[in-house]
Amino acid sequence: MRGAVLHAPGDVRLERREDPTIVESTDAIIRLPATCICGSDLWSYRGIEAVEAPAPMGHEYVGIVEAVGSAVTTIKPGQFVIGSFFASDNTCEICRSGYQSSCIHRELMGAIGTQAELARVPLADGTLVATPEVPPDDLVPSFLAASDVLGTGWFAAVAAEVAPGKTVAVVGDGAVGLLAVLAARHLGGERIIVMSRHEPRQKLALEFGATDIIEERGDEGAARIKDLTGGLGAHSVIEAVGTPESMLQAIHATRPGGHVGYVGVTHGDLPGDELFFSHTHLHGGPAPVRRFLPQLIDLIWNRKIDPGKVFDLTLPLDQVADGYRAMDERRAIKTLLCP
Ligand SMILES: [Zn+2]
Repeated sequence: MRGAVLHAPGDVRLERREDPTIVESTDAIIRLPATCICGSDLWSYRGIEAVEAPAPMGHEYVGIVEAVGSAVTTIKPGQFVIGSFFASDNTCEICRSGYQSSCIHRELMGAIGTQAELARVPLADGTLVATPEVPPDDLVPSFLAASDVLGTGWFAAVAAEVAPGKTVAVVGDGAVGLLAVLAARHLGGERIIVMSRHEPRQKLALEFGATDIIEERGDEGAARIKDLTGGLGAHSVIEAVGTPESMLQAIHATRPGGHVGYVGVTHGDLPGDELFFSHTHLHGGPAPVRRFLPQLIDLIWNRKIDPGKVFDLTLPLDQVADGYRAMDERRAIKTLLCP
């Protein structure tokens, strides 16, 4: 099969890779009609995370099941399935409490590399959720979004305790931040303030349900949110960037007693004294997307939400390098790749 491999910062190539095979009896093999590039793939593409050896890329996926191992009982060949970036058994105590991304048997799909024609999915019965039938093509981007960015944005909104009547602020206007807006709208957030300086992203944020856009950043951005909330700060703040600056911006924009849901992959240290005196609830981490998949699949299947709109660039998988460049240069919010 063909798959994307990162050789060094800025050097991603489409190469011949071994076709995946069933390794464990709990595995499934899927064929991907579409795959995509994640903002978090840019950490290694930009050299912020070290690239020590050529690495297969990608952790978001949907696909048609081609084969299953002998121990797989619920997932069947021919089904259209969606899974998350952590494979999980969905049966251990941690999974059953809703934290499948910390499953005691979890496996990172990024190590498998789903920017490819085929992928092996471990723990298929626990990891994968099938749609009622094979979906029409126009729904595929939305299901692909559910695999990570929608599920992550959704978790961020839940972690930030978004609820009817609350004021929500979103730090980060990437795909996750934008889909956190969609989630916050769905969860009843009354006022949804997005921090963005990019016109196409502002437009999409408004389409997804944002009520206010502010362009200031850092302390200035946090001060603007305080201005908009009677000097108090937002009830629920979503952090979807992953730098110390964006995290502090989120904390400073939250009222005492409020909640920060953080899903940007945190890079760098945070000052403990600021955390201490902020009086905010902080909850986040790698999103347990699997928890939300049945609900998200239902909403997409019934065309209640359209998260696939975050894909503003579609390329053949051959042009994966162009897809990374476009996202790196912020010419694209999110790139969909067609094998
Ligand atoms: Zn588990």
